[in-house]
Amino acid sequence: MATITCSRCDKSKDKLEEAPMGGELGTSIVETICAECWAEWRTTSGQLINHHGLNLGMPEHRAELRRVMKEFLGFEAPTAPGPEAPA
Ligand SMILES: [Zn+2]
Repeated sequence: MATITCSRCDKSKDKLEEAPMGGELGTSIVETICAECWAEWRTTSGQLINHHGLNLGMPEHRAELRRVMKEFLGFEAPTAPGPEAPA
């Protein structure tokens, strides 16, 4: 399996086999994020969805999850100054 230097954990790790979603974001993820960090996000997103009762059929909920995902993966600096509970 191919490896990449992950931009999130800064380690050389297995790469995702394919983009986990379509579009530019999916391409960025597959090219910069290791499979392990992606798996971590999958776990975290599942918890977020349960915790906040997010409905992925609703565009605003999907947009919110996508925003959190970008922060999680380090694509965007967190904008909200509030305390972010470390996982
Ligand atoms: Zn990583």
